Amino acid sequence: MYCPFCAHTDTKVIDSRLVADGSQVRRRRECLSCGERYTTFESAELVMPKIIKSDGTREPFDELKMRTGLAKAVEKRPVSVEDLEAAINKILSNLRALGEREVSASVVGEEIMKALRALDDVAYVRFASVYRRFQDVQAFREEIDKLQSDK
Ligand SMILES: [Zn+2]
Repeated sequence: MYCPFCAHTDTKVIDSRLVADGSQVRRRRECLSCGERYTTFESAELVMPKIIKSDGTREPFDELKMRTGLAKAVEKRPVSVEDLEAAINKILSNLRALGEREVSASVVGEEIMKALRALDDVAYVRFASVYRRFQDVQAFREEIDKLQSDK
């Protein structure tokens, strides 16, 4: 790729390591022209199943939408970028591992909740309360109780 600072075409890789449980490669690069350093992330592009919405229509899997939802859930929580990235990769690989060409949106929602639950209780409850659209305080409390009794 071109240097993002001066658009020079030649860069040197100065460091390369696996991140996000080995599903990504992080590379530090140095531009041979201007000497600026920057980081690139590389991961395999794999086909995600299509999503079957509750009304029966299909839509492409929207990774950005999922990332936005997760970022909102972990906002101001003690969750590192690396841990969140690993959780996202886990969700993606679990969905791919189903081997289905189409999966229902609820399967995706459950995968996200499973990952968040392992990551951070508060983030999990935040996401679940939006996702499950808790009808009242009672439903919300039941979810919290369930969370505590499972520990
Ligand atoms: Zn440059």
